[in-house]
Amino acid sequence: MATKQDYYATLEVERAAGKADIKKSYLRLARKFHPDVNKEAGAEARFKEVKEAYEILSDDDKRAVYDRHGHAAFDGGGGGGPFGGGGGASPFEDIFESFFGGGGRQSGPPRGADLQTQIAIDFEEAVFGATRELNVTRLQTCQTCNGSRAEVGTQPVTCLVCSGTGQVRRVQNTILGQFMTAAPCERCRGEGVIIANPCKTCNGEGRVRQSSALTVTIPAGIEDDATLRLTSQGEAAPRGGAPGNLYVGIRVRPRKGFTRQGKQIHSEQTLDVTQAVLGDEIEVPTVDGPTRLKVPAGAQTGQTFRLRGHGAPDVRGGERGDQIVTVRVQIPTKLNGEQRALFEQLAASFGHRERPVATADGKENGHGKDQERHGKGIFERVKEAIIGTDDE
Ligand code: ZN
Repeated sequence: MATKQDYYATLEVERAAGKADIKKSYLRLARKFHPDVNKEAGAEARFKEVKEAYEILSDDDKRAVYDRHGHAAFDGGGGGGPFGGGGGASPFEDIFESFFGGGGRQSGPPRGADLQTQIAIDFEEAVFGATRELNVTRLQTCQTCNGSRAEVGTQPVTCLVCSGTGQVRRVQNTILGQFMTAAPCERCRGEGVIIANPCKTCNGEGRVRQSSALTVTIPAGIEDDATLRLTSQGEAAPRGGAPGNLYVGIRVRPRKGFTRQGKQIHSEQTLDVTQAVLGDEIEVPTVDGPTRLKVPAGAQTGQTFRLRGHGAPDVRGGERGDQIVTVRVQIPTKLNGEQRALFEQLAASFGHRERPVATADGKENGHGKDQERHGKGIFERVKEAIIGTDDE
């Protein structure tokens, strides 16, 4: 491999460049040299360099290491070693994992297990937020040995077979040359240390099953079926790995009369004919308590009204949404004598009673099956349309 250009130079940024500038420059160069776009010789190699440089400089930890040690930090150490030449595609990644101990492909300690639980909350709690005490039974770091697995006062001893690395390296001679292979140390099972006197509390496991009370803060605006992640609140890992997470599923109990759609709360309100025709100020339930709503004269079934600020906030914060009230006009199905007389008056005033009604004999329009229906006269038909008939 030829001498590598400085990553900052590759990305054409200053050493003090911020993340945003680095990303901007990376995107520009990646577009310019992408092999799908740029067919010039060397473009693909340049693209790879840019990508590699960005992988380091966009990661705070890796960038810090690079700033301190330069390319040497990622060169596989020593130069000229069996991994030195790097013809393969991935030595770079391998070195990274061993350098940062992240991947744990062979020897890194595994993460603790993730845990899952569920909490049911009320409709209003989803709107306003809530806290819940949660009892979680999980493997936790042993308090006696603090996870070291060794009896208090004793220390784990470094494994002499692998010198504490947890790996045994062997050099293999093949016709292609020398290869180095690494396998987990059998003496210490890849742990690098040997526990001579295991802790009695945890039997040398470093973890014990315990129940703990946790306080879960449920953010305002959360929706049904959402999942909260409580980082590191899962099980402790064996041998000092990172703990798992606790995932809390949220169930929102429905509330009669309300439905949620993101930030909006929907409800329905029934109006009688007179309220719809003449308008009214009515009381509407909201999650904040009853609120007055002015319904204008001539309200129609299906018409919606907005109560600003009575919805839910977005779970990421911000203003609350609105409540949308849909009105339904209820046509009376039973009228007393007085009401009926008034409706008839009304009908007359709308001009429906200019022609004689009562019960027509149907002779005017003898159209077969429709006869009976038409025979009722126009007022009866209007009444049917509004009030409905008993047999329908
Ligand atoms: Zn212990």
